[in-house]
Amino acid sequence: MISLEWLGTATFRLTIGELVVFLDAYMDRVPSAPPVGLSSKDVTRADFVLMGHSHFDHLAGAEVIAANTGAKIIGSNESCRVMRERGVPDAQLLPSQGGERHRLGDGVTVGIFPSLHACTWILTDSSSGEEDHGHTGLTQDERSVVPGGLVERIRGIAVGGTEEGRAVLEHIQSCAGSLSDGGPLVYLIETPAGVIFYQDTSGCWTGVLANIPADAAILAASGRANVDGEPVQGSMAQFLTMEAKTLGATKVVLGHHDNWMPPVTREGFDVAPVREEFAKYAPLASLIEASYLEPIVIFDRLDPP
Ligand SMILES: [Zn+2]
Repeated sequence: MISLEWLGTATFRLTIGELVVFLDAYMDRVPSAPPVGLSSKDVTRADFVLMGHSHFDHLAGAEVIAANTGAKIIGSNESCRVMRERGVPDAQLLPSQGGERHRLGDGVTVGIFPSLHACTWILTDSSSGEEDHGHTGLTQDERSVVPGGLVERIRGIAVGGTEEGRAVLEHIQSCAGSLSDGGPLVYLIETPAGVIFYQDTSGCWTGVLANIPADAAILAASGRANVDGEPVQGSMAQFLTMEAKTLGATKVVLGHHDNWMPPVTREGFDVAPVREEFAKYAPLASLIEASYLEPIVIFDRLDPP
């Protein structure tokens, strides 16, 4: 059996028979965030940690899992640099840039592909069904002066002098992570029962997705999505539908849409527009709603169907 447990933000535990694979490692969140029911120090079994990118809300905790379980970490050079600084030995690090393939276990491999981060320079609070337009064709200089980005919001809250703001700042400073995303990666986990795609931030190269068919997809749903380097012209629901359709996925699980760092993030991602878009434009895809630590059966067998 192949099962998946959501551990908040874009972190998941994927169990493939006896093999345990963490997808991201961030479970130890700010006190104001709803607890996910598991802490990195309580993880006693893990064979691999696949790191989507180097920001703290993905990477932090991987160093603890690596130390306690001996798990190997697959991630960008930047993710591996941060892990090395936190004491993870080189023997447990598999630095990657996309284009690699690793054996994870009997009949199970993972292919690694380059990806993109969501557009944090133009933060959106829109509901999943609300469309955003514009802000295309900008240089990095022009993007850096667009008001209302994520860094600006975190800074505003952190230096605001409130107790919650101070907690957020202290948390970020204590977490393993990089200010750079390090070059996001996506993963294609190939098992005898089927193929699982994993992404931890809402960005993609459509040409990459078009060439990696997947049966199941874990898709990040947060912020203004990034399509081939430009902010999505449309809604998050439309972006997710495009991804699910391009991959040909029949099962879709969302990540990163929870209230993972209040007051920077807020409650209330609405899955209804995603279901409606799927029904219209990706009718083969079914949305599976995850709850923290509640196992979802991705494939009920380990053999080929
Ligand atoms: Zn990030």
